[in-house]
Amino acid sequence: MTAPTPRPGILDITPYKGGASKSAGAARVWKLSSNESALGASPKAIAAHEAASAELERYPDGGASDLRASLAALNGIDAERIVCGAGSDEILQLLCQAYLGPGDAIVQSEHGFLVYAIAATACGARVIKAPERELTTDVDALLAAVDDTTRIVFVANPNNPTGTWVSSAEIARLRAGLPDGVLLVIDAAYAEYMDDPAYDVGIDLARDRDDVVVTRTFSKIYGLGALRLGWGYCPAAVADVLNRIRGPFNVTAPALAAGLAAVGDQTFVARNRAHNTAERARIATALAERQIATTPSAGNFVLAHFPDADRAASVISRLAARGVLVRGVAAYGLPAAVRISIGSTEANDALIAALDGALGDHE
Ligand code: PMP
Repeated sequence: MTAPTPRPGILDITPYKGGASKSAGAARVWKLSSNESALGASPKAIAAHEAASAELERYPDGGASDLRASLAALNGIDAERIVCGAGSDEILQLLCQAYLGPGDAIVQSEHGFLVYAIAATACGARVIKAPERELTTDVDALLAAVDDTTRIVFVANPNNPTGTWVSSAEIARLRAGLPDGVLLVIDAAYAEYMDDPAYDVGIDLARDRDDVVVTRTFSKIYGLGALRLGWGYCPAAVADVLNRIRGPFNVTAPALAAGLAAVGDQTFVARNRAHNTAERARIATALAERQIATTPSAGNFVLAHFPDADRAASVISRLAARGVLVRGVAAYGLPAAVRISIGSTEANDALIAALDGALGDHE
């Protein structure tokens, strides 16, 4: 017997590893390892999800019409150009599936989100990483990495795990410098946490172009990570392509119902953003007081820097022993850094209380 051979590239992939959720021995666990919403989900979304569970025998609306209409109204865009997916991960994967094959390449920044490389490699494409400047996307480096095999350029803005971002002027400059026919994907998973006027999600740029996609998610500020719901704002021709290849019922009915209610509760979103801004500053200060530098972050997490990989690994395990789960980011090329998600006030109190024990007395 011979096992079937997967397509080229697939066995080169290191499987994505999610944030830890368990710690043996800790009485109570605070999960600050997956950039989840600190305040859970909107009670309205939870109620809508519960109501939808009374009709589990029904297939979902494969066109996600109501959700797309509400997203279109909220963002001032055309619903026909929105494609919903099982998380924004699915949209990223569909884009790769649609536009990449052997001989093609993607360009992303050095410490960019991992799913781009996984999805592109699965399609047999090469992954070209452009260096960053001060852990921030460098538009000139991205442009220099583009050649005639480049099909897609991915930029997470803000980026995970660095938390850094570039202005709308820089994104426009990137687009202007890319060759015709290269797709620019702006991954705005953390956009709702932003409050700097120099930041723009990219919707305006995408509106006028045939070669820009913006991806968004319900997994972060909306707190619906468990449901797997995301969307892309695409040029009409790209939306048409994705609609041909996606599963006909790729988003579940409870997810659609919860998403619709979540869009309708922008008060919750604003509360979560305000909580994040205040608590992120509190955690950065607590770390600074203990001589731990963090990269200024626009997301719902901070990236803390340690002298070396061993120290980072030891802090992660010492925090875990105290019930606080954070994320190592060696897979992102940052072995001496630790990513800490911003949690509830109680979770952040637990983190700060655990810091001295986790940081002290290293040999
Ligand atoms: N993009 C970025 C930058 C992310 O950090 C994440 C979540 N880790 C995603 C996309 C994917 O999120 P989801 O599939 O849950 O929408």
